[in-house]
Amino acid sequence: MVIDVLDRDELAFPHSLPEFQRLFPDEAACAAYLERARWREGFVCPHCAVADEPRYISTRRSVLRCRHCRRDTSLTAGTVMERTHTPLSVWFWAAYLVASQTPGISAVQFQRQLGLSRYETAFQILHKLRAGMVRPDQDKIGSKPDEIVEADETWIGGRTRGKGRGVHDMVLVACAVEVRQRKRTSSLNKRKIGRYAGRVRLSVVPDRSAKSLVGFIERTVATGATIITDDWSSYATLGKRGYRHTAVAERGDMEVAETFLPIIHLVFSNLKTWLRGIHHGVSPQHLQAYLDEFTFRFNRRFYPFNAFRSLLGIAGDVTAQTYAELYSEKSQNTTSSGWV
Ligand SMILES: [Zn+2]
Repeated sequence: MVIDVLDRDELAFPHSLPEFQRLFPDEAACAAYLERARWREGFVCPHCAVADEPRYISTRRSVLRCRHCRRDTSLTAGTVMERTHTPLSVWFWAAYLVASQTPGISAVQFQRQLGLSRYETAFQILHKLRAGMVRPDQDKIGSKPDEIVEADETWIGGRTRGKGRGVHDMVLVACAVEVRQRKRTSSLNKRKIGRYAGRVRLSVVPDRSAKSLVGFIERTVATGATIITDDWSSYATLGKRGYRHTAVAERGDMEVAETFLPIIHLVFSNLKTWLRGIHHGVSPQHLQAYLDEFTFRFNRRFYPFNAFRSLLGIAGDVTAQTYAELYSEKSQNTTSSGWV
């Protein structure tokens, strides 16, 4: 298991694979789900505003036709599925897999599981779903009274091909994570006693200066929160910025670090394992997108069905990149490989 900070017992996820198959057996079922998600009180024609049951076109399930003005309305408009030729059921499967599989899924695995003939289709679907994670939650963490937040930074990166000796594409990543206290239960399981991770925020930062690290915290953590960091000097101004700050003298001692900043070290360890195990070559210019994906799934790990709806763009509007846009990127670091 990759994310072992997962609290499996609180993972309310009744939507098993068989239940998923019962809910979405075919195109019509997926279309009906989209219709219900958009018009809870029943279809209202956006052209003539008449509320009446629409006509269904058997060959084009994602289109509803108004009985009054006879105009068509697309069920996928404004969702991540807009204007694709891929069946709705494939999209639903993809969102389900991405939302429910803790370590995520690679395009090759996905292509195989869905029996898609083209790798590009698999890649494109996954990337469009990922676009739903590129704008992660904007609200600040640590906003509850007396909430504790751990903050730290870590280097991500590694072996580099085709560069001079000593040149590495190491990227600095800043992190803040809420520390939650488990409610005492009658459970005899010792692992259930203690702290676990709440919500996380991760960002690529240029350096270890106070401007970068404190700047990250000010963007992501609510003022007034208690923040635990190591004794790196850049964090020293947190007290003046309206936070309650505790600095732990770590001095490179991993044991001290794991005792006083245990949750954030678990997050770093899970993040690195995930990057190494699933995506074998994350290049620096894509790292923030992967951090956003990790954050999205981590913060919704107790609510995978919410993640499913967010990914499909049913819960909000998502503008996905096209395949062409993904490949027109300004890639300065194309020689790097072997991340983490
Ligand atoms: Zn109409």
